[in-house]
Amino acid sequence: MTLLMLVVTYRLANRFSRPIENLAKSAYAVEKGQDDVHFEAQSSIREIQGLSQSLNSMTSTLLTQKHQLEEANATLEQKVQERTLALKEANLELEKLANHDGLTGLYNRRAFNDYQAYLFGQFQRQQQAYAVLLLDVDFFKKVNDSFGHETGDHVLQSVASLVATAVRSTDFVARFGGEEFIVLLPATEQDGAVLLAGKIRQSIENENIIQDYPITASIGVSVVLVSDQDGNDAIRRADQALYQAKKQGRNRVVSDA
Ligand code: GH3
Ligand code: MG
Ligand code: MG
Repeated sequence: MTLLMLVVTYRLANRFSRPIENLAKSAYAVEKGQDDVHFEAQSSIREIQGLSQSLNSMTSTLLTQKHQLEEANATLEQKVQERTLALKEANLELEKLANHDGLTGLYNRRAFNDYQAYLFGQFQRQQQAYAVLLLDVDFFKKVNDSFGHETGDHVLQSVASLVATAVRSTDFVARFGGEEFIVLLPATEQDGAVLLAGKIRQSIENENIIQDYPITASIGVSVVLVSDQDGNDAIRRADQALYQAKKQGRNRVVSDA
């Protein structure tokens, strides 16, 4: 009798513990990250079947949420990348706007000041001289008065383009003010600078920017000197030479030395 009772008790215990063990194994598989786990109780006991169904449904909900989270993460990462790129482009654009003149596309005065300070520093350290060309469009006020501001703007754009085309890629061209342009020529002596200024002056005169109306420019040339305190001294000499060019009748190049 005792033996029989023992066998029955063992069988009964087995009927409960086996399916629960199976469920525990499945739960362990889920914990390890396995996605395709199915809770199979293989038991005729209603409560255990109910538990197995609940676990299946819970696992499926959790997996759906996990996938949604993964997708949201991927989308977020892509958005962050897109925004970072847009920000970089905006920064480049902003930097360009800060250093360039809106009308002509040339460097502006601010960029000029930075580059001049750099060149003057180089000159002081390595005695590498540079030249300055200061160009002013002749009788430009009359162009505006006769043809209007828009045509005036067009003339400035054309002159800017002619100057930029005439120089080497290592030279630096900026719009200095209204109808004034400035060119910095690294490693250039006075003679070379005067030659280039003549070429620029000629190209402006030849261009026929306004039909049958002469557009010309005067150019003052200077070279940096050992006695200079800063870059502005060379500009001052170029400006004095430019003044002489205007006084002598315009459409000409005058050198400071
Ligand atoms: P000069 O031969 O002595 O240089 O005579 P000028 O008429 O060229 O010189 P002035 O300084 O009397 O006139 C410069 C004119 O440039 C006056 C100003 O209205 C005009 N100006 C300055 N900036 C711009 C601009 O961006 N667009 C236009 N259209 N005109 C401008
Ligand atoms: Mg002027
Ligand atoms: Mg002028």
